[in-house]
Amino acid sequence: MSMSEASVILIVIVLLLISSNEAASIQSGSRSILRAVSSENKAQVDYAVDLNSTNFDAVLRNTPAAHAIVEFFAHWCPACRNYKPQYEKVARLFNGPDAVHPGIALMTRVDCALKINNKLCDKFSVSHYPMLFWGPPSKFASGGWEPKEEKSEIHVIDDGRTAERLLNWINKQLGSSYGLDDEKFENEHLPSNISDLGQIARAVYDVEEATFFAFEIIREHKMIKPHTRASLIKFLQLLVAHHPSKRCRKGSAEVLVNFDELCPPDMWSPAKQEAVNDDKGMLGNFQICGKEVPRGYWMFCRGSKNDTRGFSCGLWVVLHSLSVRIEDGESQFAFTAVCDFINNFFICEECREHFYQMCSSVTAPFNTSRDFALWLWSTHNKVNERLMKEEASEGTGDPKFPKIIWPPKQLCSSCHLSSNQRENGVGQIDWNLNEVYKFLTGYYGETLASLYKEKDRLGDEVTDGAIADLVASTNAVVVPVGAALAIALASCAFGALACYWRSQQKNRKPRRSWN
Ligand SMILES: Cc1cc2nc3c(=O)[nH]c(=O)nc-3n(C[C@H](O)[C@H](O)[C@H](O)COP(=O)(O)OP(=O)(O)OC[C@H]3O[C@@H](n4cnc5c(N)ncnc54)[C@H](O)[C@@H]3O)c2cc1C
Repeated sequence: MSMSEASVILIVIVLLLISSNEAASIQSGSRSILRAVSSENKAQVDYAVDLNSTNFDAVLRNTPAAHAIVEFFAHWCPACRNYKPQYEKVARLFNGPDAVHPGIALMTRVDCALKINNKLCDKFSVSHYPMLFWGPPSKFASGGWEPKEEKSEIHVIDDGRTAERLLNWINKQLGSSYGLDDEKFENEHLPSNISDLGQIARAVYDVEEATFFAFEIIREHKMIKPHTRASLIKFLQLLVAHHPSKRCRKGSAEVLVNFDELCPPDMWSPAKQEAVNDDKGMLGNFQICGKEVPRGYWMFCRGSKNDTRGFSCGLWVVLHSLSVRIEDGESQFAFTAVCDFINNFFICEECREHFYQMCSSVTAPFNTSRDFALWLWSTHNKVNERLMKEEASEGTGDPKFPKIIWPPKQLCSSCHLSSNQRENGVGQIDWNLNEVYKFLTGYYGETLASLYKEKDRLGDEVTDGAIADLVASTNAVVVPVGAALAIALASCAFGALACYWRSQQKNRKPRRSWN
């Protein structure tokens, strides 16, 4: 073969490769749309198309549909999980080759809990989960949405809480009368699961993980506003004094003593925004529980499915572990700090609404830590009771961790006064509240950190410093908020003095040359 023949063949191969690449990228949108429905396992099919920052523009630009719906959600958000089947019922009508009404609307979703989607969710000013938008697909591609933008062709779907309501909303936009076909979500046969005492020891990792994510969410969603700053400061005070992990106590103290610099009142102004994103000063990517956190996995709170348990379970454990560590004199403070924190910073809208209702129904102030710990316990049980029914009918719970009224007899038999109670509701169980409180303080106090203690006794190598930290905190159990603040301020003042002294030293002597 001559040189010129060889080069012609080479050019043809290159051209073929380029054109096949182009075809692949053009088709990537439609392929991802079809991805769900082409799977052989029909039972696990999702009709709504999962998008992320890498394919969002391409898919929306190439879709043949006249309209698009984008759901911004977070995979850990329980309300989003419960909403998913509703969204899917509607998506089944419009998406995929078997769509009942093809080409009308493309239904998509974007997981804002994935780092890769941070900027994308920001562009649409996502303020709560799930948040739904409607508009021409091309306007989503390379577009965005601002709350005050009046002429935008992208609209927030403000009434899509159920499949019926979402479809009604769409019908109003289109002047159509589409209906939902009957769709049954079969309940899984849920095996009974009772967490054993040993498992809570693993939650020491999860309280750190959950604390990190709580602040990460606050930062990512710009939730520090003039009217929410005070409640964040209050909750930080609680963490500084009573978080079971010393690393988280330290990190919280650091945020608190530098609060005005890390979270200035105008922190979300365009000028400061850049600094936040660049991690230069301000909250940036501040790791509130130290460099090792987040680890990226859950121990005690790990679900049997990807999208169950995790953060919301971890947050409950943080709250319970705080409730058993406070002093009597702090009980009302802790109650308001927890209620306000959840109300202002728990991004699951349904959860915070329900929780705040329960907070608001408390009429007398708390005088003892026992009362507050028991209130939190019974409030959690009320949530469990409601979710038991919801999850059973929607099939959205974790089959390995069905909701139960807690603690079951297997965990604390003395907590149950009557031995033949039916555990189908908190009202049906006759509790021995002294025993329940004793159990809570053991479970969320001593036992929660026993894993670390055990390792310590065996002389295991402590690689991350967490073992000593956690044991110390759990044994100390209570450090009043004021004292902890004083310690944090004193250590800060000491640091400042050291800095000042060092700068004085530098100023006094001319800089020494090392070469
Ligand atoms: C403040 C708050 C409010 C929420 N509100 C809602 C809501 O309105 N709707 C919704 O869908 N989801 C809500 N969630 C989420 C929901 O409660 C669960 O966290 C989520 O479904 C994961 O459940 P899980 O099986 O991991 O157990 P979780 O309920 O998260 O519990 C975690 C662990 O705590 C222990 N536990 C269980 N009950 C109690 C109790 N009574 N006292 C002490 N310890 C207990 C158990 O060991 C359990 O494994 C809320 C979460 C929080 C933190």
